[in-house]
Amino acid sequence: MVLGQLGGSISRALQQMSNATIIDEKALNECLNEITRALLQADVQFKLVRDMQTNIKKIVNLEDLAAGHNKRRIIQQAIFNELCKMLDPGKPSFTPKKGKTSIIMFVGLQGSGKTTTCTKYAYYHQKKGWKPALVCADTFRAGAFDQLKQNATKAKIPFYGSYMESDPVKIAAEGVERFKKENCDLIIVDTSGRHKQEAALFEEMRQVSEATKPDLIIFVMDGSIGQAAFDQAQAFKKIVSVGAVIVTKMDGHAKGGGALSAVAATKSPVIFLGTGEHMDEFEVFDVKPFVSRLLGMGDWSGFMDKIHEVVPMDQQPELMQKLSEGHFTMRIMYEQFQNILKMGPMGQVLSMLPGFSAELMPKGHEKESQAKVKRYMTMMDSMTNEELDSTNPKLMNESRIMRIARGSGRQVRDVMEMLEEYKRLAKIWGKMKGLKIPKGGDMSAL
Ligand code: GDP
Repeated sequence: MVLGQLGGSISRALQQMSNATIIDEKALNECLNEITRALLQADVQFKLVRDMQTNIKKIVNLEDLAAGHNKRRIIQQAIFNELCKMLDPGKPSFTPKKGKTSIIMFVGLQGSGKTTTCTKYAYYHQKKGWKPALVCADTFRAGAFDQLKQNATKAKIPFYGSYMESDPVKIAAEGVERFKKENCDLIIVDTSGRHKQEAALFEEMRQVSEATKPDLIIFVMDGSIGQAAFDQAQAFKKIVSVGAVIVTKMDGHAKGGGALSAVAATKSPVIFLGTGEHMDEFEVFDVKPFVSRLLGMGDWSGFMDKIHEVVPMDQQPELMQKLSEGHFTMRIMYEQFQNILKMGPMGQVLSMLPGFSAELMPKGHEKESQAKVKRYMTMMDSMTNEELDSTNPKLMNESRIMRIARGSGRQVRDVMEMLEEYKRLAKIWGKMKGLKIPKGGDMSAL
């Protein structure tokens, strides 16, 4: 995700404003204009951004700002709230219940990841004890049935489709009937897509919807389509009653803003994100952690999940204790680097860690980042226990820096770079002092 960049731009705009001696309307406007630019670059639709700017202006009281309150926090909070509001149109139009038959129809353009997402959705529920089934009503794309069949077989999910029948409406109706009889509680109908929104696609969609009477229609959207997201989502919403959205390919170059636009266009919530090609690369979507990430504030709940996954049980309370005391030592940094290296696909988790994302490990440069982390760790291996456990940077004087460089076979400037990184992270993590981990990953409380 390119979300880190957006967070960085917004943080910079806020910082600039905080640095200004007088916070008047002009300074606030400049700051908001910067933020507007950043959101537009992240593919949030123009009208949404403009409305948001107006709302923030209404909320943020210049007198409060002038009175020396924490301006950065007040505005950041306002942006956070506005984005959350935008992304949270309420519950999906229907929520399936385990044990009771529900028909879910998937719609979206070809290539959006619809077929993959159908299986992910089925697999996700199957793991939770549901009885899902897949119906392939995509007769337009050659190979669609094979793909669904392959995925379904792998996940041991019953499926229905036909190589011979070319009428998608007939297949859909038959498939739904069959799985109703088999008492499946989640019947998922994959429909055809087209390269472009066009009349034939919409007519077919409407007919399938009429024949199967879905309880919920999920619109699948490629997260990287940019500004086109709003119009595309709206076009689908006009024809069928989209009740929820799934945004795919959030692991790639998606900027995240498209999701906001799709929500606004369909007035339906995003319920899952696709984060990879594999069956289990599928995340339940939560508004607050998402916005936290969008603003570069980190994602507490995601981060905590990861901590529970990778940090050995017996070390977890200790780490949290240290963090809440505001002590970020070199040793903690070392241990976190170790954890990061263990986590596997780096990019996935990094955006959740406050400070560890954009600057230290830019997306697409995982290999270099990994090498950098390893390099830092080698240098830290040459440090004494006292140095590793101290929060006092003064311990690292010139002769120690030279000694560490020599000991690890690196240059003095490499050690300096590592120390700078430590300072940067210490500053960010220092903010966690006295922190109680907020529920739902809401970082706005920080
Ligand atoms: P459909 O035409 O809408 O049914 O799209 P497919 O399900 O065939 O997906 C198109 C391509 O996108 C395939 O190569 C999928 O593997 C890929 N894809 C789907 N979802 C994701 C995702 O969340 N992340 C990534 N990286 N690729 C995805």
